[in-house]
Amino acid sequence: MQPAPSNTSLVNLYDLPRAALGELLAGWGYSAFHRDALWGALYRRQVQSLDALDGLLRPELVALLRERACLRRPAVHHEAFSSDGYTHKLLLRQHDGQTIETVLMRFKGRATVCISTQAGCAMGCVFCATGQMGLVRHLSPGEIVAQVLHVTGILRESGESLRNIVLMGMGEPLHNYEATMEAVDILVDHSGLSIGPRFITLSTVGVVPGIRRLADEDRPVHLAVSLHGATDEERAALVPVGKRWPLDELMEACRYYSEKRKRRIFFEWTLIAGKNDTAEQAHVLGRLLQGMDAHVNVIPLNPTVGYGGAPSSPESVRAFQDVLASYGLPSTVRQRRGIDIDAGCGQLKAAVERPRRSVPATP
Ligand code: SAH
Ligand code: SF4
Repeated sequence: MQPAPSNTSLVNLYDLPRAALGELLAGWGYSAFHRDALWGALYRRQVQSLDALDGLLRPELVALLRERACLRRPAVHHEAFSSDGYTHKLLLRQHDGQTIETVLMRFKGRATVCISTQAGCAMGCVFCATGQMGLVRHLSPGEIVAQVLHVTGILRESGESLRNIVLMGMGEPLHNYEATMEAVDILVDHSGLSIGPRFITLSTVGVVPGIRRLADEDRPVHLAVSLHGATDEERAALVPVGKRWPLDELMEACRYYSEKRKRRIFFEWTLIAGKNDTAEQAHVLGRLLQGMDAHVNVIPLNPTVGYGGAPSSPESVRAFQDVLASYGLPSTVRQRRGIDIDAGCGQLKAAVERPRRSVPATP
């Protein structure tokens, strides 16, 4: 694979949705026919370097692309496989040295990739390894898309294909709205990767203006909202941005989204023993969501170095779900697969880059 060019004035072709790619080529005097040929090479054939375009496009166009553009692909900085074989966690190094996490889960023939939208995160959720790092920078659309291309490359080797994409890796997607949505446009494009919109889920900590914008723009994704607390006080203790967007504003934005888009919303609740897993808290959550087209995903805490909490016991998880069911709320337990390889959000990066436990980089 060609190393990522360091010249930042080059256009990274993965940053451009098809219309923008067309505009770029039109400016150089090339028609939509050439745009489509290039698009097919990038996302159907999935060439890994500009050199691989030889023979696929006009030689003059390939020469221009070599001069003015690049295909920026991340390098594998570290990778780990869970003992059950289902989870493959990658720490991918960007051209500026930043590392981000991408997790491939292959379960019963249905491959899912969990991708990052930022290096680090500004939202500061106390139990989250990414939140404990703070925000380093936003990812570009191409850096988001390249994570998917990396795993489709891995899956192709074994004849598998990608089914689901979850934007639940490092970062808050609605804090990097434009780049995230451009990446979604690229991923769903019918003449490219063509990931079915039903198979993309975006998870947000509850950035209210972003939820409203998503409702107005009708992006083809499922929405998941991380709650973790059903009163402002309890939520803010775990999710500091709860102070900025209190629950009444957040729930109003969710209702606006679900009425406008006629879509079910998923709510995520990380269960922490003795903190937010009591029957009383489940009742408050039940009342908060009652009447909405909602589904609750409960995730037993994946312990992180920077937070002292423990996951709820299986009995508490079941009791919590039973209370929700009494409000007519369906729920599913989401085990964070690959706990043995630090596969929680931001945990592999924290483990690899913590000097005490550092692991040599793969070439
Ligand atoms: N920023 C977005 C998406 C990334 S986090 C969000 O917060 O929704 C994806 C999900 O993983 C969130 O619900 C988050 O609360 C949860 N999560 C993060 N760290 C976790 C941990 N250590 N254990 C369990 N769930 C965790
Ligand atoms: Fe950011 Fe999501 Fe982690 Fe909160 S849980 S710090 S929003 S990545």
